[in-house]
Amino acid sequence: MDDIQDSTQTSTLAALEAEKDQLLTLLKALPDISFVFDEEGLYVKVIGGANETMYVSGQSLVGHYLHDALPAPLADHCLELVRTAIESGELQTVEYCLRTADVALLPDDARTGARGTTEQWFEGRVLPLPTYDHSNRVALWVAVNITPRKQLEHYWREVAHTDPLTGQANRQRLFARAHQEVERAHRHQHPLSLLEIDFDYFKRLNDQYGHAAGDEALRRITQACEGILRESDLMARTGGEEFAILLPETDHDGALDLSRRLLDIVREVRLPDFAPEIRLTISIGSATLLTGESFDGLMRRADEALYEAKANGRDRVHSDR
Ligand code: GH3
Ligand code: MG
Ligand code: MG
Repeated sequence: MDDIQDSTQTSTLAALEAEKDQLLTLLKALPDISFVFDEEGLYVKVIGGANETMYVSGQSLVGHYLHDALPAPLADHCLELVRTAIESGELQTVEYCLRTADVALLPDDARTGARGTTEQWFEGRVLPLPTYDHSNRVALWVAVNITPRKQLEHYWREVAHTDPLTGQANRQRLFARAHQEVERAHRHQHPLSLLEIDFDYFKRLNDQYGHAAGDEALRRITQACEGILRESDLMARTGGEEFAILLPETDHDGALDLSRRLLDIVREVRLPDFAPEIRLTISIGSATLLTGESFDGLMRRADEALYEAKANGRDRVHSDR
């Protein structure tokens, strides 16, 4: 009887051992990396991370604390999430940015060179585990490298906000930025100006020299204008041959001064491959934000000013204050 019991126990143990081996192999083969943290932020275990193009082995972190490995603000945030997961029993998710170079305790060869210093994005999923490590409660942190997804998102956001012909911002980006800037200008009582620009006699250029010449003029003029703008200014293509320039921290006189320089610089633009003899000009309507005014109001006044500049003979700026 005892013999039968012993042999049953032995085979159960052997089956459990085999299952454990299988599980360990499976965990090692997982492409994404996971960490077991205790509630003090100790790295108890590092699991998976088999996809070496996406993850650096984290084995050297085991036995150390989050605050030994990560920059303090990120370590604080991670520890807070681990504790929240443990306390609430609920899944916590977070997206964070990290460079291997910023993780102390990782091997030097992983932290140097382009790979070590390139920012990587991770999604962290944190779950409490129903076990203990030396009487401390623990949580599992699954980290998925989402850098390729972030790069794609960035690429499409850029495409969606860029005019393909000139490479300048489009209407969508102008409006998004303009509403922020109007709000900021009102809050801090700082000046904000807007220039509306329309190319003069553009239809004639297209008719006489062809559409390709018109396209080249659009590119060259915007490039020339961009060259004298500040980093914080935003030029956007708002229509066919119509552009707007948003000028934060710029009052009426500053906007007029810049407008005159834009007029000068456009007069210098040439189209050597299409129409070397042609002289290009633009007209500008300028307006500066009034107390309590909306972006629509500012745009309307800049448009009216542009109409005046056209009516008064073109190649000039008119300001509505
Ligand atoms: P004005 O001085 O009064 O502004 O005269 P204009 O000829 O510039 O004005 P109008 O609005 O009559 O014509 C604008 C022209 O701009 C019409 C169109 O042929 C041209 N245009 C608009 N978008 C493009 C573009 O993407 N490429 C080219 N080549 N031409 C464009
Ligand atoms: Mg026009
Ligand atoms: Mg025009």
